[in-house]
Amino acid sequence: TKFTDLPLIAPLQFALKEAGYEHPTPIQLAAMPIVLEGKDLLGIAQTGTGKTAAFSLPILQNLSKHRTRPESKCPRALILTPTRELAIQIHENIEAYGKHLNLKHAVIFGGVGQNPQVRALQAGVDILVATPGRLIDLFQQKFLRLDKVEIFVLDEADRMLDMGFMQDIKRILPLLPKKRHNLFFSATMPPEIAKLAHSILVDPEKVEV
Ligand code: AMP
Repeated sequence: TKFTDLPLIAPLQFALKEAGYEHPTPIQLAAMPIVLEGKDLLGIAQTGTGKTAAFSLPILQNLSKHRTRPESKCPRALILTPTRELAIQIHENIEAYGKHLNLKHAVIFGGVGQNPQVRALQAGVDILVATPGRLIDLFQQKFLRLDKVEIFVLDEADRMLDMGFMQDIKRILPLLPKKRHNLFFSATMPPEIAKLAHSILVDPEKVEV
């Protein structure tokens, strides 16, 4: 199977061609149809499997199909990831895959000044990639709202737990609309992560690679 055999819109097909992607990886093949349909997903996959594109491509497609003007300070898709490095990588991928779409994206993480991140939020963001601490920080300062999030991605959930982010995640979840599209990724499924996945996902499809 090639990407050109999949029901991805032309702007994404162009971007994939430019990135030199020809064949989808197993997680991309399995997960993309589920996400495109708007179904909740439990993905058990490590970094390096191509999971970023597996969720980013269908998110870009779904958001561009139901276009609304990005509201200042409130993203339509929120991607939570544990480290600044992962956040930057995911954001770079979204930038590359979305380069022929008119969607706005931003990345926020701690350890750097907040002003450029605040300015990006104020300009309006469709897709926000964030680490939990900075997200809560900017939310508390009212630089960010989460009440219009349509799609929520929790990336590397087991690493979030290891890094002590469970409390932050439990604070963020009630800030999101109850009805939303959820994607949950973890390399492993210890009981605490399974419990968290169960509390977030509604009737999920499971993909394991
Ligand atoms: P990830 O597991 O999402 O961190 O992706 C690992 C690396 O593989 C990244 O550098 C991606 O840009 C690249 N990649 C993902 N999917 C494909 C694909 N289908 N073809 C070629 N490269 C890919």
